[in-house]
Amino acid sequence: MNEPSAALAASPPDQELAAARRHLWMHFTELERFQRADIPTIVRGSGTHVEDAAGRRYLDALAALYCVNVGHGRTEIADVAAAQMRELAYYTTWNFANRPAIALAEKIAALAPDPLNRVFFTSGGSESVESAFKLMRQYHRLRGMPDKVKIVARQGAYHGTTMGALSVSGIPTIKAPFEPLVPGTLHGPRVDPYHADVGPVAHSIAQAEAMRAVIEAEGPETVGAIIVEPVQNSGGCLTPEPVYFERLRAICDEHDLLLISDETICSWGRLGTWFGAEYFGYEPDIITTAKGITSAYIPMGAVIASDRVAEPFLEPGAMFAHGLTFGGHPVAAAVALENIAIIEREALCEHAASRGQSLRAALEGLRDIPIVGDVRGAGLFMAVELVSDRQSRAPIDADVLASWAGRVPRMLYERGLICRAMHRGAPVIQFAPPLTLSEDDVAELEAAMRGVLAEVAEEIA
Ligand code: PLP
Repeated sequence: MNEPSAALAASPPDQELAAARRHLWMHFTELERFQRADIPTIVRGSGTHVEDAAGRRYLDALAALYCVNVGHGRTEIADVAAAQMRELAYYTTWNFANRPAIALAEKIAALAPDPLNRVFFTSGGSESVESAFKLMRQYHRLRGMPDKVKIVARQGAYHGTTMGALSVSGIPTIKAPFEPLVPGTLHGPRVDPYHADVGPVAHSIAQAEAMRAVIEAEGPETVGAIIVEPVQNSGGCLTPEPVYFERLRAICDEHDLLLISDETICSWGRLGTWFGAEYFGYEPDIITTAKGITSAYIPMGAVIASDRVAEPFLEPGAMFAHGLTFGGHPVAAAVALENIAIIEREALCEHAASRGQSLRAALEGLRDIPIVGDVRGAGLFMAVELVSDRQSRAPIDADVLASWAGRVPRMLYERGLICRAMHRGAPVIQFAPPLTLSEDDVAELEAAMRGVLAEVAEEIA
């Protein structure tokens, strides 16, 4: 692994911890908890593994935050970034273009579903969703339908934290502190086949029809879009059947709505395909993406719009009245191009699809532990849901769960495994490793999970 710069390596560990406690505002983090606890500080990474400040090694089975798709420590990406910085570190895309942004837009258009040919760059997922929300409103306005302003998302879904994206999100606890939010956001039910009383196809159809009911109750003439993730992250890799998206597409066509596929996580090989829509076989009007577009080597996001959506903006005098200083940043675009080249060169979409099968088999193999309820997901985006009784799918008692909520992630971490353990609705442990995951990594992940889950199951019993 490469050595960090002298300036970063200088502080002794206790001084660094004190500085972090005093000055660093960690995101979505209870700061008070870390006034006593150690702050896990990752200092370097290589492939599927990272190392902390104490020199301990971890399997990064979350690709940091669902984003380091090509794995850590790619010096070829660093070289491309440095070369682009030397050539042209930055120029705006406001009435200007730069070569990496042009090349990347062309590349994305070639990889995305056929009519999605126009790319608006952002700096991350929230900005992509925010931009798509605004794009939808202006699109309808330019077509003489200014009342089509509302957007329908799913309960429990996470679409980001800027005010528009937060309003679209369906998680009450992260919205409440910031009310009043942006008006015009509606929510239909999520897809949760494991807890449904009917089979997955019937459930998927019912949940799509429930989205229709929300739209029709509200008045379709006031609704402009549906936004969904291919596989919903929040709730633990909630995976519909393809018919779900078929129905949503039909509802959008019937009521003149845009179908927005929020693929902040589910693109760039995560599901074993370039885009999540491709995995399920549907055609959105807009794809929002971020994270894996650069494998997080540098921040970037994008809104990919169909020719139909872009059309009104090509009329004389028309303009998408929206922009971001860093949209189409040449260094980010150059990094994204190299990242995409690596995914192509190493056939990482195909690799994610086949290694995803190994990961699924390994997680299915944990079913002999009585608290393992469901194993679900797609490609290398998988979750295990924990229950107290597998037969009845009964949830784990709330008090027991509360006592385990903080401990399980720590126990996994202490066994050298970084993943996500959360309970929004139900307790799930989630995996989104680098797409380069090896069979040895799968075995390492399984061993850590088995150790921790067996311990938890014993204590619960
Ligand atoms: N949309 C989805 C589906 C996400 O998973 C996320 C982040 O995880 C976002 C939007 C927000 O992305 P960012 O954190 O880059 O703003």
